[in-house]
Amino acid sequence: MSTAATSLPERNAVEVADLVLMPDAAAPEVRARRARQRRQMYVGQVASYSLGAFVLLLYGYDGTVAMHVPSLFWVGGLSIIGIFVVMSEAGVGDRHTDHYLTVFQISAHMALQFVFLVSVPAIGIAFVSVLFLIFAFGTLRMTSAQAMFTWAIATTCLAAVFLGSDLPIGMPVATKLQRTASMLCFVLVIGQCAFLGLFGATLRKVLYRRSIELKDAYRRIEELAELDELTGSYNRRCIMRLLDAEMEKSRQTSAPCAIALIDLDWFKRINDAHGHPVGDEVLRTFAITIFANIRPADCFGRYGGEEFLLLLPDTAGDAASRMMERLRGIIADLDWSAFSPGMRVTISAGVVTLRHTDTADTFLARADSALYSAKAQGRNRVATS
Ligand code: GH3
Ligand code: MG
Ligand code: MG
Repeated sequence: MSTAATSLPERNAVEVADLVLMPDAAAPEVRARRARQRRQMYVGQVASYSLGAFVLLLYGYDGTVAMHVPSLFWVGGLSIIGIFVVMSEAGVGDRHTDHYLTVFQISAHMALQFVFLVSVPAIGIAFVSVLFLIFAFGTLRMTSAQAMFTWAIATTCLAAVFLGSDLPIGMPVATKLQRTASMLCFVLVIGQCAFLGLFGATLRKVLYRRSIELKDAYRRIEELAELDELTGSYNRRCIMRLLDAEMEKSRQTSAPCAIALIDLDWFKRINDAHGHPVGDEVLRTFAITIFANIRPADCFGRYGGEEFLLLLPDTAGDAASRMMERLRGIIADLDWSAFSPGMRVTISAGVVTLRHTDTADTFLARADSALYSAKAQGRNRVATS
């Protein structure tokens, strides 16, 4: 019983999955991984031919076939494997989409089976059954066109042997040893087919899990592309996109829309007095506090440095000012002494409501000028315009 058997462990399946996903990858580490995979496959093939030769040996002991048949079969199989090992190590397969050169391997192994089928037809069943194994291995890696092609070759050869000749293809069952050997032909082929089937199933599971991991990674990348790393609020690009969308929605539904441009007061002093890392922590705590006190529909993003933009959909001017005033009070009343005894953090904000004539730029410019007047009036306050 010849041909390939690939290793089952999931780690290998993961590597094979890599290869399936990156057929054109020519990076040295990918080529090295491919070569390792092929080596494992050739070891499996040697084991498979050895099992086959052992069964033939039983027929030999029984006198059904000459004793040199098992060794010729083993040497023949190993010669084919050896040729492919040499080509594999020379990187010949790396130039092909299927680096295993499956079609060539299958053709060579099939040819060997037919040579022995014709030469030793008395135990023909042993070689015919190997064809199942060859195809079980091949279909793991072949395209449907390649499978059809190799199947057509196999069919032609089988027709030539079964219909074009009167060779007595046998399944010897006269003696106990013959019956054992014939049974082993089936047992070993079924076992190795099951082994390959399990490998295929593991591969499918790995690919399925990979696809889920890829989806997760993609979602995470999207999140990272939208969020500010330090504060977890939306980044500038995202909050500007959301501002455009809110303005559009407000115009379509005629619902009011307000924004607040928020700036931490004297933040440079906090950095200077306590260091940049503490400044970062203050920004984080500020953002968390804002998140905890806004509505789910409100959007909060970092506009730049220690300046943040709060979008308040469906909110008219007065309500927006009241809401911002509440947030200002919460920040001012927060106990910041954990950062440094006696530390105080306050914010100023400019609140504006969308006008018909506003573009995103003018809307933000009005918020900025309201913020400027809040600062000019002494900070820790909310101004509108
Ligand atoms: P004002 O009340 O007028 O806003 O005064 P200010 O000190 O807050 O304003 P200024 O623009 O002079 O300083 C802002 C400071 O914010 C300077 C900058 O180093 C600091 N800053 C900006 N981004 C970060 C950050 O990510 N982490 C820290 N720790 N500091 C930041
Ligand atoms: Mg500031
Ligand atoms: Mg600022």
